[in-house]
Amino acid sequence: MISIKNSEQLKLMRVAGRITGEALLVGAEALRDGVSTKEIDRRIRAYIEKCGARPSFLGYGGFPGSACISINNEVIHGIPSDNRVVKDGDIVKIDVGACYRGYHGDSARTFAVGHVSETAQKLIDVTREGFYQGVGFARAGNRVGDVGSAVERYVASNGFSVVRKYVGHGVGSDLHEDPEVPNFGTAGRGARLYAGMTIAIEPMVNVGTADVRVLKDGWTVLTADGKLSAHYEHTVLITDEEPILLTDVG
Ligand code: MG
Ligand code: MG
Repeated sequence: MISIKNSEQLKLMRVAGRITGEALLVGAEALRDGVSTKEIDRRIRAYIEKCGARPSFLGYGGFPGSACISINNEVIHGIPSDNRVVKDGDIVKIDVGACYRGYHGDSARTFAVGHVSETAQKLIDVTREGFYQGVGFARAGNRVGDVGSAVERYVASNGFSVVRKYVGHGVGSDLHEDPEVPNFGTAGRGARLYAGMTIAIEPMVNVGTADVRVLKDGWTVLTADGKLSAHYEHTVLITDEEPILLTDVG
């Protein structure tokens, strides 16, 4: 069921979104050659809890971390670990959710650590811009297919592919709500958008094939061909005019 949030609920969504966006930046500040993904996760969790919120991902479906931290060919759902160390030249995806008084924010970004390849930097830039191409269609009266087709068109025109197995989603009192928001589709098709809906738009973009596989740990999603992947996500409030990025704290 698609939920339309009232003004009281949207107040909480705004706070959850701000905490989520800030926690993501706390994680980004910790990124450097030699840091473990567990250390990044610890700092994110501490920040969220200091804000009076709780990490949405911790325990979700049994997930053991507060953030998903995925490196290079890992697409999403990387498990933070003391043994997983970031190196110069890596691209690192940090995906964070914070729950404030029952409402969730959800946001992800991809960061370059030190000097990365030209392809890696282009992938990061195209993924971010793919999000903005899609979110430009995220307004009341449009459909999720308008958003997804814009993302896919931009990504494909740059020679990369969008992951199809995992998609964006409504977000609110549940971390994952209806509707699904694919990063592909047909303009004019799919669920209609209404003012007061909050959705996570989150392109996952691969340099090579769109195909993915899941690691033996049961969580980490990898590109099937071992090539790089990037991710960019905001929680977006649909209005009759411009969409509002609830997790964008600059
Ligand atoms: Mg996310
Ligand atoms: Mg999400």
